[in-house]
Amino acid sequence: LTKYVNGFVEESDMEVTTNETILLELPQGSNDIVLVKNLYLSCDPFMRGLMVEMSEFHYMEAFVPGSVIRGFGVSRVLKSGHPDFKEGEYVWAITGWEEYSLITDTEKIFKIPFTDVPLSYYTGLLGMTGFTAYVGFNEICNPKKGEYVFVSAASGAVGQIVGQLAKLMGCYVVGSAGSDEKVELLKTKFGFDDAFNYKKEKSLGAALKRCFPKGIDIYFDNVGGAMLDAALLNMRDNGRISACGMISQYNLKELEGVHFLVKMITKRLTMKGFLVGDYFNLYPKFLEVIMPYIKNGKITYLEDKTEGIENAPAALVGLFTGKNVGKQLVVLADE
Ligand code: NDP
Repeated sequence: LTKYVNGFVEESDMEVTTNETILLELPQGSNDIVLVKNLYLSCDPFMRGLMVEMSEFHYMEAFVPGSVIRGFGVSRVLKSGHPDFKEGEYVWAITGWEEYSLITDTEKIFKIPFTDVPLSYYTGLLGMTGFTAYVGFNEICNPKKGEYVFVSAASGAVGQIVGQLAKLMGCYVVGSAGSDEKVELLKTKFGFDDAFNYKKEKSLGAALKRCFPKGIDIYFDNVGGAMLDAALLNMRDNGRISACGMISQYNLKELEGVHFLVKMITKRLTMKGFLVGDYFNLYPKFLEVIMPYIKNGKITYLEDKTEGIENAPAALVGLFTGKNVGKQLVVLADE
């Protein structure tokens, strides 16, 4: 990170530097540290919230200008002072955005248990974002067959999985996305019943009314702001809102207000925010659910891969303009 970010994050807020003097060794006497080679980096919207000194978006240690930014990644263990991790094993964890990292927080390293799926899936479908979709939909929304489900940022890393989990549950599912290409993907590749390009709609409320004449039972919110307002207007009685993310707000200097919260009362709605990090005890259960779906071709998955650490800042910034089509990740090295 070159400096704290104020407003829209830009590529120039990050720089790539080279340090050839670093030895690829564990520090002396370190029996709880793992040295890894990073293979894939995951681009995640939450990273924007850590680029400011003080923020309502902080729930992890913020980044410091002049230091390496961090995020989820898939890595190979090069050297290990920890008995649970062996050289050559693959793991996913919070790691530095760098080619090699020392990971000290070994309690939060996940071993990669399956090798018959692409390793890169552990930055998304089988990693943090796929798990977020499962927690935020299956565990939080109490979904039932036949319910009407709306997903925003629906073609992204979380949204594409939420939509498919909802279809597998027997729900009627509509997604919103920011381009016609993404709308087409939702309907043809991910099996959504309907989808719309929110950037082309005059009124988001009217678009939702058109897609859900009987109203929405479950809104999986990835964007917040005006879309949340529009969804509140269109919820059915006893509807549930999973407050997963509010990406429309992350670059704003002043957050937008939500106008129709009164609908929470009149429609007896439940809205629950969550941080996926609080649910990692459910990760083995998630794998049991998702792996058969992947193997039987019931879940499909789209990645958007950028090559090379020099292109990582642009990949991260692209999340906030909707440049990514599917889960955005950066490929750093061969497996
Ligand atoms: P995506 O892969 O969906 O990428 C972000 C997408 O957001 C973009 O492609 C773009 O899609 C959309 N977007 C960007 N800016 C705006 C805007 N101003 N208004 C509306 N849409 C916008 O990201 P993820 O799937 O990784 O994350 C989705 C959400 O889930 C984020 O809000 C994230 O913070 C949240 N999240 C929450 C977690 C938790 O624990 N609660 C964990 C992980 C993610 P489009 O072209 O369709 O506009």
